Amino acid sequence: MSFSQRVFCGQVTPDDVGRSVQLCGWVDAYRDHGGLLFVHLRDRSGIMQIVFNPEIASADLCRKASSLRTEYCISVAGDVKKRLAGTENPNIETGNIEVMVTQLTVLSESDALPFAVSDKAMVAGASMAGADNVAEDLRLQYRYLDIRRPQVRDNLMARHRVFQCVREFLDSRGFVEIETPVLTASTPEGARDYLVPSRVHPQNFYALPQSPQLFKQLLMIGGMERYFQLARCFRDEDLRPNRQPEFTQLDLEASFIDEEFLYELIEELTVKVFAVGGIELSRPFPRMTYTEAMDTTGSDRPDLRFGLRFVDVTDVFSKTNYSIFRQILQRGGCIKGINIKGQSEKLSKNVLQNEYAKDIVPSFGARGMTWMRAEDGKLESNIVQFFSQDELEALWKKFDVADGDVLIMIADSSYSVVTSALGQLRLHLANRLGLIDENSFYPVWITEFPLFEPREEGGVTSSHHPFTAPDRVDFDPKNIEELLSLHSRAYDLVMNGEELGGGSIRINNRDVQRKIFAALGLNEEEMREKFGFFLRAFDFGAPPHGGLALGMDRTVSMILRTPSIRDVIAFPKNRSASCPLTGAPSAVKREQLAELGLLNLGGQDVLPGTAEKENKVDHLSWVSRIGIAAHERPVIEEILAEAEELALIAFQKAGKEEPMFTVVPVSNRTRPGTEEKRSELAQKGQLLKSAPSVKGNYFKVASILE
Ligand code: ASP
Repeated sequence: MSFSQRVFCGQVTPDDVGRSVQLCGWVDAYRDHGGLLFVHLRDRSGIMQIVFNPEIASADLCRKASSLRTEYCISVAGDVKKRLAGTENPNIETGNIEVMVTQLTVLSESDALPFAVSDKAMVAGASMAGADNVAEDLRLQYRYLDIRRPQVRDNLMARHRVFQCVREFLDSRGFVEIETPVLTASTPEGARDYLVPSRVHPQNFYALPQSPQLFKQLLMIGGMERYFQLARCFRDEDLRPNRQPEFTQLDLEASFIDEEFLYELIEELTVKVFAVGGIELSRPFPRMTYTEAMDTTGSDRPDLRFGLRFVDVTDVFSKTNYSIFRQILQRGGCIKGINIKGQSEKLSKNVLQNEYAKDIVPSFGARGMTWMRAEDGKLESNIVQFFSQDELEALWKKFDVADGDVLIMIADSSYSVVTSALGQLRLHLANRLGLIDENSFYPVWITEFPLFEPREEGGVTSSHHPFTAPDRVDFDPKNIEELLSLHSRAYDLVMNGEELGGGSIRINNRDVQRKIFAALGLNEEEMREKFGFFLRAFDFGAPPHGGLALGMDRTVSMILRTPSIRDVIAFPKNRSASCPLTGAPSAVKREQLAELGLLNLGGQDVLPGTAEKENKVDHLSWVSRIGIAAHERPVIEEILAEAEELALIAFQKAGKEEPMFTVVPVSNRTRPGTEEKRSELAQKGQLLKSAPSVKGNYFKVASILE
C-alpha cells in the first residue's frame, strides 16, 4: 500500500468537495445506521467523518467495514462530499464535510481499550466519556493510548511549538545549541546525583547531570560566547507531587554580558513563549530584591496577582503600653501586618478570633495575631483599649485604612516567624476570599539574594550554586557572619508565585572561585578532587559570563494551565517517581551486578533492593510509606497472593495473558472486627476548620502548580 497521496484529516476543507482523498488514522468512533456506516477517522490533525454507503461501496467493502472496531488503524480512499443540511457536526472542525469511502485497508487491529480515547461525540450535543476520571497510573501504563487523546496530543504539540519558539528566538540572537554530556561527573545543584555504574571501569560511576552548569561555563571559556540547550536534568530529590526525577531546562549562558543583558533577553523570550499560549505579558518585568520580597510577602517567590503586601508597623509601637508587643520589641522583634481591604463582612469578629487567631495563624508557626476592623472611622477589636489614640491613628495612616477594612498583625521576636506566618496567611486569605485572578500572569525578577545560607550542622552552603558571583570579593572565607552578609549576583524569574527559573553572573576568577569553595568548607584536596578540572580552566583566560535556566515543563504547564507538569511530558514518571509503563526503576539480576563489579561493593552479596525476586511486601511498604509490622506480614502476603490470583483469573477469562487492573472489595484484614469509621474530628468538622473553603465533608485546597 502506498501512502504517497495521503493527506491529514484536518487538512481537508469544503474546497476539496468533489476531490478524491486518501486518509489514514484510527477509528475514533462508529455508528451503524442500518447498513450505512459512519466512522470518525482520527489522525494527529483532527477527525473526518467517513461513510460506507452500500449504494456506492461494493458488498465486499461494506462487509470489511462492518468488522471495524474502535482504534483499528486504517487507510481509506474516497470522495469528499458536503454534508446534507442538518447533519453537520459542530463538535469537529471538519463537521461540514465527509468522505464517501471507495477503498479500505485495515492496517492494524486493536484490542478493547483499558479506557476511552475519544472525546468527540459523533452526534451533535451528545457527550463521550473521557479518560479524565481514569486513574492516572492506568493512563501512564498505557501512555501511548493516552497520547491518542486529543488533550494530551494538543499539550505535546503546544510544547513543541514553545520549544520551536525558543530555538528560533535564541538562534536569532546568536545563541548556538550545543549538547553537553549526560554521562558525566557530579554537578552540584543541591540535590543528590543519580549514579550510573561503568562496566569498563568496575566499581566506578558516572553521575547524571543535575544541570549542565559546569559544561556551559567551560563552553564560555572555550569561546563559544552564546550557548543554549533544551537540556534534560536529573535530580534525586524527595518525592513531591509536581516534581519529576528528570526534567527539561532551557539552559543558556553568554559571555561579555551583565545582568541587564539577561533581563532583556529573557523578558523578550518569556513574552514570546507565553504568547504561544495566547497569554500577553507586559514589559519590563518588575524587579524586587530578595529582602523586599521577604519584607513585603514573606516569600522569595511572591505571588503578586493580588495585594495584601505586608506593612511594617514596628515603629508605631516603639513606646507601647501593650505588654505583649512591648516584650517582643524589647527582645529585638518586629511587628508586621496586612490590610485586607473591604472584607470586614467576610471576616467577622468570630471568624477572626475563633478561626484565625485560635487555629489558623498558630498552625502557620506564629504564637498569635492581633486583628482590628475599621468601622465608622475607628479601629475595633477585642484589645483595642490597650492601644493609645496615637498608635491607632498611626496604624490608620500606615495601613491606609478605610471603613470595611480588616487589619491582621503578627508580632514575634523572630523576623522569620513573622514573615513566614504572615506569608502563609497572605496566601490563605487570597484563596479564601477569591482574590486571585486565575487569568492574570504576574512576572517578577527577584534579585540580590544572600550568597550563602547557614547549614544546620554549622558553616554555610550556597543559596544557588557555588559558581555564582558574590557582590564583593574582599571577604574572609572563615568568617561565617561576614559570609552570611554577602549578596549574590543571582536572579530568579518568578511568575504567579512559582519559580520559573534562575541564574546568575558567574565567578570568572580562579582565586575567587577557590575562596568560595573554601568558604563552603572544601580543603585543597577536596577542591582538586571535585573541581580540579574546572579550576584549571580558569587559568586560561576565562571571560566574564553569566546565564540562566528556565524550567520548561513548569513553563509549558503554566502556559497551558494544566494541573500537573506530567500533563505536558510525553512519558512522565508518576507521583512515586516510577514509570507504570516500563516498570522503571526495577530490580536487576545478580549477573548484571557482577558484570558491573557491584556484587561485593557494599561488602554484601546482593545490594538492598536488587534481589532477583523482589520482596513485594517491602516494596509495598516503601511506596505507600506505611510501616508493616512483623505480625501483619503474613496477612498482607496472603492478600497480595489472593489479589494476584483474582486478577489472573479475571484476565484469563477475558482471554488476556496478563492482568491489567483489578478491583477487590475493601475490608480491614490486619485488624479484623474493626468497622469503617470516620474520625470523630472529621465528623465534628474540626479537621476542616482552617480550610479556606469547605463543601460538605471536603475542603478545597489551593490549586497546586506542582
Ligand atoms: N544551573 C542553574 C540551575 O540549574 C541555573 C543557572 O545558574 O544557570 O538552577
